[in-house]
Amino acid sequence: MLACFLEAPRKVAVKDVPIPKLAAGDILVRMEASGICGTDLEKIEGQLGPGGILGHEVSGTIEKVADNVTDHKPGERVVAHHHVPCYQCPDCSNGNYTLCNEFKMTNIDPCGFAEYFRVPQYNVGRGAVIPLPPELSFEEAAMIEPASCCIRAIRRANIKQGDNILVVGLGPTGLTQIQLLRHATTGKIFGSDTVEARLRLGKKLGADDTINALKEDVQAHIVLLFGAPSHGASYPLNVSELFSRQITLLSSYSCVEAEMEEAIRLVSEKRILFIARLSREANCDSKNTNAHNHHWSKGSLECNKDSARESTFSFKNP
Ligand SMILES: [Zn+2]
Ligand SMILES: [Zn+2]
Repeated sequence: MLACFLEAPRKVAVKDVPIPKLAAGDILVRMEASGICGTDLEKIEGQLGPGGILGHEVSGTIEKVADNVTDHKPGERVVAHHHVPCYQCPDCSNGNYTLCNEFKMTNIDPCGFAEYFRVPQYNVGRGAVIPLPPELSFEEAAMIEPASCCIRAIRRANIKQGDNILVVGLGPTGLTQIQLLRHATTGKIFGSDTVEARLRLGKKLGADDTINALKEDVQAHIVLLFGAPSHGASYPLNVSELFSRQITLLSSYSCVEAEMEEAIRLVSEKRILFIARLSREANCDSKNTNAHNHHWSKGSLECNKDSARESTFSFKNP
C-alpha cells in the first residue's frame, strides 16, 4: 500500500509499504478521506520540532478486525481518533484528557495519509473508532476531528449566553468556531481576518460583523489560543495591561472521543457545515480561498502549501 512519510524537514515521501498486521484488539481501516491539518504543514516545514507522523483527521471503512474485536466489523464506516488518553490518571480525572501522559504516545499506524491504517487496541478499547451515520460523507467525517477540537476549545473558554466573542482568523477552523459559537451565545460574534473572501464567509456562517485586521484593532478580555504555534514561538505581552484589565489567557489542545461524538451529531443535524463544501458552493474566486481536493500519487505529494492551508480536506484514497 502507499503511505506518506516525513523524512526530513520539507521532504515528504510516498512509499510502498506493507499493510499493517493486526495484533489482538486492533482494527485495520481503509482510509477514504484524510484532512491536512495546519500541524501537518508545520511538521513538514520543521516548525514543530523534528519528525512527526502525518495525517490524523481520518475517515474510512473497516477492512479487517482482530479475532477478539466484537464491537466493530468489516464494512463499517468510521472515524478514528489518533490520540487517546488513559481515562484513569489525575489529569484524566480532572477532565484534562489531552494532558494525559498516554495521549501523545498513542497514534494510528503508520499514519493518516496511508491507504490503510491500523488502529491499535489501546485506542479501540477506549472508543476511538466511532461509527458514522449514513448521512455523513467521508469528507465531512474527516473534518470531525478539527471540529471536535473547536468544541473542546469553546468549552474551555466557558462562554456564557450574552458574551460577545471575536474569532481571530477565519480559516476552516475559525469558520467552524463561528458556527459552533452561534449556538453558545446570544451576544455578538465578530470575525477578523485579512482576506476579504474569508470575511464574507464569516458573515454567511453566523458572524454579526467582521473586521479586516489590517485596518482595525480590537481588544479582548479572555484570550483563547487555538491552533499549534511553531515550536518555541513567543509573543511579547504587556503584563501590566494583562493585570489591570484582568485579561485571562487560555489555550486548548486537541480533543477526545466525547467531543468527536458531539461533532458527528452536530454535522448530522446540519448545525455546522464544513467550509470546503461551502466554498465550492459559494464559488469564491479569491486565490486565497481555493478549496481544491489534492490527490496523492506514488513518489510525489501533489500538494501546494498555500492552497492546502486553505483546504479542509485534501487526501482521498484513489
Ligand atoms: Zn489537527
Ligand atoms: Zn490519563
